[in-house]
Amino acid sequence: MNSNLEKLIDLQQIDFRIAALRAEIAALPGEVARIEAKLAVSKARVEAAQAALKADESARRKHESAIKDQQEKISKYRDQSLKVKTNQEYKALLSEIEQAESQIAKLEDKVLEIMVAADTRKETLKQAEAALKADTAEIEKEKEHARRQTAEDEKQAAELGAQRQQLRTGINDDTLRHYDRVLKLRGSALAAVRDDEMCSVCRVILRPQVYQDILKGEEPVYCDYCHRILYYVPPPPQEPPQEEAPQDAKSEAAPQQAAAQPDEAAAQS
Ligand SMILES: [Zn+2]
Repeated sequence: MNSNLEKLIDLQQIDFRIAALRAEIAALPGEVARIEAKLAVSKARVEAAQAALKADESARRKHESAIKDQQEKISKYRDQSLKVKTNQEYKALLSEIEQAESQIAKLEDKVLEIMVAADTRKETLKQAEAALKADTAEIEKEKEHARRQTAEDEKQAAELGAQRQQLRTGINDDTLRHYDRVLKLRGSALAAVRDDEMCSVCRVILRPQVYQDILKGEEPVYCDYCHRILYYVPPPPQEPPQEEAPQDAKSEAAPQQAAAQPDEAAAQS
């Protein structure tokens, strides 16, 4: 094969590898951002759970202070009831006391509800904190991975870049220009041709003259349709037909088969 073609094949391999590395480097920040978004959700859950607990605590204190107020009222009414002159005044005070007691009962129910809910609230907070801790560890790990991977990819891309430059100096300018243009436009610049006389990428059947030129391999030949640079790949060598294994070897390889034939076993004994 023409040495220019061999260099072009190597060059395209290197260009593909550099492109894959660049794609990987570009995708890494996206992966970090995805986990960061997950982390933000976990943080918000912890904050919401903490806020709910805090709100419950403040409501409980408010109810308890209201209970105390009502209790003070009741003892004040009781004191007053000792000094009243009329039955009517006494009844009025009793009614006030009853109202305050019913108020206290309602407030105590609310306090109890909060205390019962507290266990669930605390469990929710505990779970949210555990998830946050796990996500925080994950983001640290992912950032470290992204940092390492990027550095590794950059290093490999730089090494390949040097190899690429080296290869390009050995290929003539016109061919390189054609290669660069087709690679940019089509994602690949080369196509193999086999004995079916077709461009293996666009599947167009080549003109006989074009096919003959490819076989000669002297000048770069382009596909008329997709403009890729064509190179001939000979068919793989034919494998010689396998000889049948001798009969003895076969029966040795499958002793259980022999045992399964009682007639033969009986004949041998
Ligand atoms: Zn083609």
